[in-house]
Amino acid sequence: MEHVDCCQDSFRGSALPQQQRSPFRLLSKWARRSSLSTANSLMLHLQERSRILLRFADLIEKHNDEIAALETWDNGKPYEQAAHIEVPMLARLMRYYAGWTDKIHGLIVPADGPHHVQVLHEPIGVVGQIIPWNFPLLMYGWKVGPALACGNTIVLKTAEQTPLSALYVSKLLHEAGLPEGVLNIVSGFGPTAGAALASHMDVDKIAFTGSTDTGKVILELSARSNLKPVTLELGGKSPFIVMDDADIDQAVELAHFALFFNQGQCCCAGSRTFVHERVYDEFVEKSKARALKRVVGDPFRKGVEQGPQIDDEQFKKILRYIKSGVDSGATLVTGGDKLGDKGYYIQPTIFSDVQDGMKIAQEEIFGPVQSIFKFNDLNEVIKRANASQYGLAAGVFTNNLDTANTLTRALRAGTVWVNCFDIFDAAIPFGGYKMSGIGREKGIDSLKNYLQVKAVVTALKNPAWL
Ligand code: ADP
Repeated sequence: MEHVDCCQDSFRGSALPQQQRSPFRLLSKWARRSSLSTANSLMLHLQERSRILLRFADLIEKHNDEIAALETWDNGKPYEQAAHIEVPMLARLMRYYAGWTDKIHGLIVPADGPHHVQVLHEPIGVVGQIIPWNFPLLMYGWKVGPALACGNTIVLKTAEQTPLSALYVSKLLHEAGLPEGVLNIVSGFGPTAGAALASHMDVDKIAFTGSTDTGKVILELSARSNLKPVTLELGGKSPFIVMDDADIDQAVELAHFALFFNQGQCCCAGSRTFVHERVYDEFVEKSKARALKRVVGDPFRKGVEQGPQIDDEQFKKILRYIKSGVDSGATLVTGGDKLGDKGYYIQPTIFSDVQDGMKIAQEEIFGPVQSIFKFNDLNEVIKRANASQYGLAAGVFTNNLDTANTLTRALRAGTVWVNCFDIFDAAIPFGGYKMSGIGREKGIDSLKNYLQVKAVVTALKNPAWL
């Protein structure tokens, strides 16, 4: 396992004696140091905490292009997407959380009897964070922002496929004034470094984003160690519902975006496109035309919309899902194979006539494969949309206010986008129902993940009033 401590070079793995290099020993060291420096970070004036995050946001903007290039090298996503969407979103996240540092406070509670009751909101302590490879920078921001705003120290493990951007921006965060030991970045594998973090006795909380299967492992590791609280942001199979009164051209474009964005590697991808039967044929034809226009290729080239998949494992898995769709009788509208002979490129693929019981209708493909389903009644589509083990997000396309209101309340999902999709401002909470996760990230709700609640009850002698 390799590690980099963003704040103290002498802590590099190579400088440590051999017997101290196991993940557990290293993490113990980090955790101990983090625990100690929790006190230091708490001593930081609230305004200074805020200033550090604001300076960090400025540095992110200053280094926008290098950060975006690292993200593209690591992940394969289009450079324009990284440079114009994701890096600016990271800066926005940091400014959002900078605004919270001096607005986190407890309560004074009127309780029965002669007692003064304070409810304190304290930092939780040493926070373990494990992030995935699909949006390395944004997942870093969703996790580091609230944890620092609340005054915690952090040990964050990046995904093995994408270690670079977190290391680079952590240097900038240090440059912005973050004290030594507050943020520690671990580059390592899941079953070793990730598991060591999740099961560590000195880690007070674990926040995880990744697959549902690994999320279950994280919960188990917490249960078997110190019962640290766990937040999970997991998989999805999100419905995207197009009513017959919707603006069809807009719905086609957004359904395309909802599925194909980021090579289809989004936990909230609109991967079940439900279309009303009255507009179904038109929708499928227009979706095919849009997919054929999608620009796939070198992610550094201008105008490219889709780069390669993350790695060989995902590439092969997606091709297996495509085969399964064909074998189970769905109609292959376009695509269906790899693209070219070099790199992990996959043709933008569409299946129509997809039935609910098919594997491609139930499992998360995490690739550029759109499945289009037909429905004819509002109650029917609600029932079918909710018939999933997941509940991360949903999209609703209609110009009828009553239909929109019915759907937004009936769908069991953590986010419902109406006539839009993938809107991800820092202030909007994100997380899942059912097997899509536990807890919320971003927005005011994310702060709860990083605060401990303490009631302080003080007896009052001869109070003038109660
Ligand atoms: P994917 O299958 O898409 O790679 P994972 O859920 O396996 O998603 O990975 C997300 C993150 O979880 C990565 O940082 C990975 O290293 C980590 N991870 C994988 N397995 C484990 C594990 N057993 N314990 C802790 N972390 C893990």
